[in-house]
Amino acid sequence: MDHDTTLLLGLDGLAVTKVVAAGNEPQDGPVVHLATADERARCCPQCGVVAVRMKEWVTTRPRDLPVGGRCCALRWRKRRWCCDQASCPRQTFTEQVPQVPARARLTTRLRQAAGAAGAAVADGGRTVIHSARDHRVSWPIVSAAFTAHARRVLPAQPAPVNVLGIDEIRRGRPRWVLEESTGTWTTTVDRWHVGFVDLSGEQGLLGQVEGRPSPR
Ligand SMILES: [Zn+2]
Repeated sequence: MDHDTTLLLGLDGLAVTKVVAAGNEPQDGPVVHLATADERARCCPQCGVVAVRMKEWVTTRPRDLPVGGRCCALRWRKRRWCCDQASCPRQTFTEQVPQVPARARLTTRLRQAAGAAGAAVADGGRTVIHSARDHRVSWPIVSAAFTAHARRVLPAQPAPVNVLGIDEIRRGRPRWVLEESTGTWTTTVDRWHVGFVDLSGEQGLLGQVEGRPSPR
């Protein structure tokens, strides 16, 4: 076990056994192999008794926050145990630690960062792309977190709005490309989005769409 690398990764209950160098693509991060380093992972989640009979090895690939700015591919090789307690309805279970609960596809800390990023979109008026950059998570994760956040906090329909604010917001500079066939310039990236805001009430941002109406 590599103690220093385990400290660097900082996922409680998991120890780094090996780090394999990144692939050739710039987005490829190193592959980090993990082993269980918490005896409590062997306790049956149903009855709490420590299991002694192993069924099989399984490997999970939870996604995690970037480490040092690079996304690591995690591979946690862990055991599936049999629960032999006669009174326990649970027959088998896989090891879990608080940072990677059973069946979780994201580490707890990534899920929390995604939740904060989703809240920044919902409550802070950040775009999904901005918030993803701020919180160092990918935009599909932020988008999903925002949707989950919105489902939790929003009523099915917004309350009636007395004064609706419509704002065009531009982020960054547009990119232009010359169409050689026609000799005209067109935008390839639309940096505008339109936000709909409840100005007189307290509902905040009601919706956001990419692009803007074309100028007349
Ligand atoms: Zn049990």
